[in-house]
Amino acid sequence: MSRPVRVRFAPSPTGLLHIGSAHTGLFNWLFARREKGRFLLRIEDTDTARSRPEWVDAIFEVLEWMGMDWDEKVVYQSQRFDRHVARARALVDSGQAYRCYYLPEELEAKKKEALAEGRYWRNDRRYADLTDAEAEALEAEGRKPVIRLKIPEGKTVFQDRILGEIAVENETIDDFVIVRSNGTPLYHLAVVSDDVDMNVTHVIRGIDHVTNTTKHIHLFQALGAELPEFAHLPSILGEDKKKLSKRHGAVSVSEYRDAGYLPDAVVNFLSLLGWQTGDDQEFFTRAELMERFSLDQVHKRDTVFDLRKFEWLNGQHIMALSNEELWTLAKPFLMRAGLIEDGLPGGQDVDHDYAMEVVGLLRERCRTLADFAVQGRFFFTDDFDYNPKAVRKHWSKEPDAVAVRIGWLRDEFTALASFDTEAVEEVVRNLSDREGLKAAQFIHPCRVALTGEMAGPSLFHLIVVLGKEACVDRLEKALVRLPDVVEQSAVSEG
Ligand code: GLU
Repeated sequence: MSRPVRVRFAPSPTGLLHIGSAHTGLFNWLFARREKGRFLLRIEDTDTARSRPEWVDAIFEVLEWMGMDWDEKVVYQSQRFDRHVARARALVDSGQAYRCYYLPEELEAKKKEALAEGRYWRNDRRYADLTDAEAEALEAEGRKPVIRLKIPEGKTVFQDRILGEIAVENETIDDFVIVRSNGTPLYHLAVVSDDVDMNVTHVIRGIDHVTNTTKHIHLFQALGAELPEFAHLPSILGEDKKKLSKRHGAVSVSEYRDAGYLPDAVVNFLSLLGWQTGDDQEFFTRAELMERFSLDQVHKRDTVFDLRKFEWLNGQHIMALSNEELWTLAKPFLMRAGLIEDGLPGGQDVDHDYAMEVVGLLRERCRTLADFAVQGRFFFTDDFDYNPKAVRKHWSKEPDAVAVRIGWLRDEFTALASFDTEAVEEVVRNLSDREGLKAAQFIHPCRVALTGEMAGPSLFHLIVVLGKEACVDRLEKALVRLPDVVEQSAVSEG
């Protein structure tokens, strides 16, 4: 009978959680949830020089933000040091590992010699069977032993859930070190020892761990433990087909969070990096992913991080939220941009109906939450610049005539009794009919005056949301500033 699924995510807290790491974590989490198993978190903090408590907190924070809840208590690898070393000693006692007294420079020379003769160097186990007296004599010389695992003759073969059969000749695997000469355990020992103690049934990690796996199998066997299943995930590449790195832009999950990506969009996008459903569906809710994700549909090919697709998916997830939810999520971005006050709880500093209308007008246009502050700036302040491009296109060609039209709009709006979209639209139609102009000759200059931009949400709607007073003020202000702004936009073009 197969064991109940237990998988682990084992990040090293040496920096912000990288997209590649989050991807590995997510595939483990989805697999655990789909299989009704357990998702365990192990912090691999044995590299004391590079691990820091604040990076551990950053891992928790990002996992919580992504909604990747873990089961059971977090395991800290550094706290299990004694257990790792005790295991290594037991392996020495049972003859499956040995203390090796070679000095690094001696090994270097032997490796060189083997290479020159076209052989692999494998430790000759010269120190494997010493008497206590011989060992003491070597230590008296100042030699300090490492502990090495004995790799048997033959072949190492395993069935990878994604890559299929992997086989290597054992002569390519040296008796590797499991405890350093200073007495500290090596990564391989720590990982396998913890995987055994945590009863891990499936080891799902990046493809760059395949060589490690061929070693780890021998450790599992030496420890008398049942082998987990292995699944190695494809690498994530940038669009230039090189391994995703800082050169490609933001590579940590928190950078995307801070740029206004939604957790569900991050989860959805990362899930598609290597997982293929066989149909064209790309938008997945979390619940769908938890139900449909399967390791058997993960491919081995490298996968490309496509930022445009990520943005598009984020926009789709934005569209899936209610205005209320979006307002709550967009508010911190508006605050950060200085557009609204961090005032009363619930954002009562902004009229709630107003907020709902604004979000309703912007939602289709925003691909990130930060976009609400950029594209929606004019809803919260009249302190915006007139985009020189918009000015050149819609004001500069006939500034005097435009000023006259803006003046008419101001007067007509001022006179309107009911300020709704029909009435506003009628004003524009009537004026253009009267003057024998196209409606666009009013609409575009008016948009520039009210928003500073040449594109944005439906003009008649945004006029009504802004309200009569704000519109009239802005048209007035535009009239005053128009000559200067037209002049400056000409300069900025040159
Ligand atoms: N701590 C390792 C890493 O961050 C993961 C080791 C493992 O999954 O076995 O690459």
